[in-house]
Parts: sequence; C-alpha cells; structure tokens
Amino acid sequence: MSVHPWNLAVWQRLTREPERLPHALLLHGMPGVGKYALARALAQWLLCLTPTSQGGCGRCQSCAWLMQDAHPDLHLIEPLADPDEAEKGRRGGAVIKIGQLREVIEALSLSAHQGGWRVAIIRPAEAMNAAAANALLKTLEEPPPGVLLILVSHHPRRLLPTVRSRCRAVAIPRPSQPQALDWLAAQGVTGAEAETALREAGGAPLLALEFADPERSARREGLLQALAEPAKQDWCALAQALQGAVAETWGWLTRWVSDLIACKSGAPIRYFPQHTPRLQSLAARANPVQLWALYETLLMAGRHLQHPLNPQLLLESWLLRYARMEDRA
Ligand SMILES: [Zn+2]
Repeated sequence: MSVHPWNLAVWQRLTREPERLPHALLLHGMPGVGKYALARALAQWLLCLTPTSQGGCGRCQSCAWLMQDAHPDLHLIEPLADPDEAEKGRRGGAVIKIGQLREVIEALSLSAHQGGWRVAIIRPAEAMNAAAANALLKTLEEPPPGVLLILVSHHPRRLLPTVRSRCRAVAIPRPSQPQALDWLAAQGVTGAEAETALREAGGAPLLALEFADPERSARREGLLQALAEPAKQDWCALAQALQGAVAETWGWLTRWVSDLIACKSGAPIRYFPQHTPRLQSLAARANPVQLWALYETLLMAGRHLQHPLNPQLLLESWLLRYARMEDRA
C-alpha cells in the first residue's frame, strides 16, 4: 500500500528523522483520505530491512511478509468482523475489546522477531471500549522501547482525552479538488462521474472511488429521482429494493434532506447541486418543523446502522415521513 499523493508532505515530515518518531501517533481525518494507507506505509518503512526515503523496498523478506499481512512485528487491531462475536458498543458499532488489546500489548513487550521495530495499528481507535482504552493507556504511559503505536481515527474527539493527549496528533488533510480528481482519473474514474462521486464523498477521494461503482450509482439515481418526485412514488417497493443497502441509502437521504434545509435557509446546496431546481421547489413547500425533525431522526439513526433489525421497515419509516412532509405542506 503506498502513500497517496496528497499525503506526501505528511509522510516526509514523519520520516525525516526516524529516531525522533514518537512512540504513539494519532492519524486523524475524515474517512476516505488514506489514513490507513499512510499507517501501513509507515509500518512497512520501519520494518523493511532496506528502506528508502520513499518507503519500504518491496523486495525484502519483511516487505514480503507485510504484503501478505503476515509480519510477526506488525499487529493490526480492528473491531471483530463477526457480528455475533462483536459486542455492540454504546454507539451501536462493533467494538475493539480488552482481550484484543491485551494480546497485542503482550506481544509488543517481547523483543522483535526481526530485531527492529514493533508496530501496532489500531483502527478505528474510537472503536475501543473503555476497558480496552484503559489497557492501552498503560502502554502509552510506559511504552516499551522500539514500539510505535499508530491510532487511526475518524472521530478523535470520541477517544479518551488521556489517550489522545499521549499521542502525537497528525491531521490527515483532504486534498484539493483538482488533486482528488487527478487521482480518481488515475483510477479510471473521470468527468462528471468523478465530480459527482467526489462531491458526494465530501471531497474524500477513496470514498469517492467506492461511490463511483456503477451498481451503486444506479441505486443512488433511483432514490434521488424518487425523492425529487415524491407524489408519484411507491415507497414500500423502493424500501424493499434498497433494504440491502441501508447505510448508503441513509447517507443519500440524509444529504438530500440536508440540502433541502440549506435551500430553506438560503445556504448553498452542498451535495446535489445538479438537482437545484427540484430541491428549491420541494423546500419551498416543505414544513420546516417536520423537515428538521426528519433530519434529526436521520442523524440519530446514523449511529445504529450496522445491523438494523428490519432494514425494510426502517427505510419505509424514513421515506414515508419524507413523503408526508411534502403532502401536508
Ligand atoms: Zn523491504
């Protein structure tokens, strides 16, 4: 995994003097800007047997292990993937548990297999539950020599302040639009498609690349057309069609409603400017109280999207509220 072009300045700053690296880094920024790729590249550079200023050599035994995700001195800590195994955190998502932390902390206290650095990447760091965060705190206070902990976080404010304050925080920026579009073009996504995906992704290029998937685009266009013509829709059929994609549907609907609120308050349309005339006429007729209430419901729901009990019913409840808001106005 290589460093994305917009992260090269940060890369150079961090790798200029390896002996002055802190024992813990907190790479933070919005999702889709390459924080994890940067963390991996740093780990590879530190563990590589013949590194260059560009990163790992890609040819040595260490690099080979890394590329197979099998390096004994690199530990990756993520929420457990199995939904039955993963406890629900307070915020609804899967959590990183203390057992996972303990295992890695124990491994870090042993000497390195390759005699060099030992690196642990925790992502997203805000997924640690309180017990796990406290276990990490001890290691942050008395780090074993030759250990680098890399915390990757989309929401650093959700970390324990004591954890945050013991890491060197490094903000990972969102690239400029031309920089992001250049990168997307290199991945084969160009023109209006790239611009739409990038706007929808809030400027985050990796997210935009995901968003440019054709099947996903078709689902989005179907939903947006329905939202633009609310009087004519069969919402239950639409909810059924979209029930396999609750999180992304939630994202589009939330952005659409946010654009309606922007129209209502005379602010610029942020996500779907291509639908400006429709948004304006819908906003003019929408009941503002209901519009805000729906927006708040959606924001609250955003915390519990991973395993809804009945996705179709959930989507129906939002879409029908949306439709009624238009009817009554
Ligand atoms: Zn190497």
